[in-house]
Amino acid sequence: MNISPESTTLGIVGAGTMGSGIALAALYQGYRVILQDSFPGALEKAREYIETFLAKKGLSENAGKVTYAPDPAALAPADIVIEAIIEDLAAKQDLFRALDGICPPPAILASNTSTLAVTAVASVLADPGRAAGMHFFNPAPLLPLVEVVRAAQSRDDAVQSLVALAESLGKTPVVTGDTPGFIVNRVARPYYGEALRLLGEGAASLEAIDLLAEQSAGFRMGPFRLMDLIGIDINATAMQSMYEQTFGEPRYRPHPIQIQKMQAGMLGRKTGRGFYAYSEEGQRELPQPPAPTLQGAVFISEGSWAPGLKEYLEGIGVQADVVTPPGMPPQAAFVAAGRDEFLVEHMNVYLAGTRAELPVFVQCVDMTLAELAAQADEPERLVGFDGLFFAGGKAVTLVASPALGDEFRATAEETIRALGKIPVWVRDSPGLVLPRIVFQLVNEAAFAVLEGVADADTIDLAMRLGVNYPKGPLAWGREFGYSKALAVLDHLYGEYREDRYRACVLLRRWARLEKLA
Ligand code: NAD
Repeated sequence: MNISPESTTLGIVGAGTMGSGIALAALYQGYRVILQDSFPGALEKAREYIETFLAKKGLSENAGKVTYAPDPAALAPADIVIEAIIEDLAAKQDLFRALDGICPPPAILASNTSTLAVTAVASVLADPGRAAGMHFFNPAPLLPLVEVVRAAQSRDDAVQSLVALAESLGKTPVVTGDTPGFIVNRVARPYYGEALRLLGEGAASLEAIDLLAEQSAGFRMGPFRLMDLIGIDINATAMQSMYEQTFGEPRYRPHPIQIQKMQAGMLGRKTGRGFYAYSEEGQRELPQPPAPTLQGAVFISEGSWAPGLKEYLEGIGVQADVVTPPGMPPQAAFVAAGRDEFLVEHMNVYLAGTRAELPVFVQCVDMTLAELAAQADEPERLVGFDGLFFAGGKAVTLVASPALGDEFRATAEETIRALGKIPVWVRDSPGLVLPRIVFQLVNEAAFAVLEGVADADTIDLAMRLGVNYPKGPLAWGREFGYSKALAVLDHLYGEYREDRYRACVLLRRWARLEKLA
């Protein structure tokens, strides 16, 4: 099918948030649109919204290209129909049955469902091959990604026509399999799920988790702020649906905290209260990192994070030596820990070789600080830190062991500030905050590749465009090393003994290949 604004008429069913947004995106490009909704009030609201935004873009002349139709029979001239009605399988199937009569082949039918199986929606058609998914993101006129969902019976020409339509709307289409959550809503699950687990276990406050996600990993919004924006009910329902569709995959299990928020009617911004209260007006003030003031040398032990840390330190004018020079007096010392690269003696060499009043920072992303402190000659001087997310961010995760002396705690905090970073204390728990969240994202992306949802590059592209991640999960995996991701996941699995943390077999394979390379 040749797709263009001149030759193609679009039918859109459902004039709510998504339907009117998709209609506007099409009108921006000059498509003829038939917008149908069974509720006249919805059509009126859509007209107001569409006309306002067309006028803002100086495209008011395109307002004449849309027909607002209360009667589904008006959809007959449409070459492609996209449904965006309520998220209910029976309602969508009833609609597709009706469309089979109103818009016979070769018209293409698409569903904008977020959580239902497109295969099930299409199954009621006489020719299900002419249907596929076309999943836009909210707000549809702005967000660039469209997931085109290949259902079990979708024919290539239907998929290709929807890809071409997305492109002509100025969007970036990605083709995905018809599996729960498609790419974006699936791969993003751990961002919410692990944050909720961390909060539920008291490993960190929600403010600390959001701060680290935003200021240390570079996510545009921390998980709790984002859940408040999406709607805690919408997010929990998506989770529940994925959990049920996968027969209880533990990675998708909803968290009791979400359910309780729903019971309390605290659904996020739309109710004025969710994880945060939204009564006060005005911009949120982000904490700013202090100016770096550290003078002198810093010692860093060998580790995969060492080059990044050295580069950061040299950037602020601090001499950084990636060596273990016993007996020399540095201003701060950072030791890499990790089962694959850490020697306990190394930590003890640093403790012995640095000034007795200095804390020693020890990376504890794949060993808990408690494990390390138990083997340290001077556990009162050990401060855990997240070395993986140190160099690039403004905030640094710190962990205290029960043995940590007050004076060392204060000096550690001062040192981190003197390095120009915001110290954020969290509890000693496996994988800390960011490695646990980010490596579960890597793991989820690996499972999606393994299960044929899409290839690695497509998944990364979808996550950057669909949810604005600073990096694709698999690019992150490569940057830190798949073996590091695997070490953290195996550590989590070993500590929790939950299937939720089992590493994907593909990730294990990639980690081995990395060692061969
Ligand atoms: P919405 O409630 O804002 O709009 C739904 C509209 O459909 C309403 O105007 C309603 O009157 C109309 N409608 C219901 N049944 C109908 C029928 N049988 N025939 C014609 N019109 C009917 O919902 P929404 O947020 O726009 O979501 C619509 C679809 O898009 C859902 O499948 C949802 O999962 C999906 N989606 C939503 C988002 C989002 O962020 N809101 C993002 C991507 C996909």
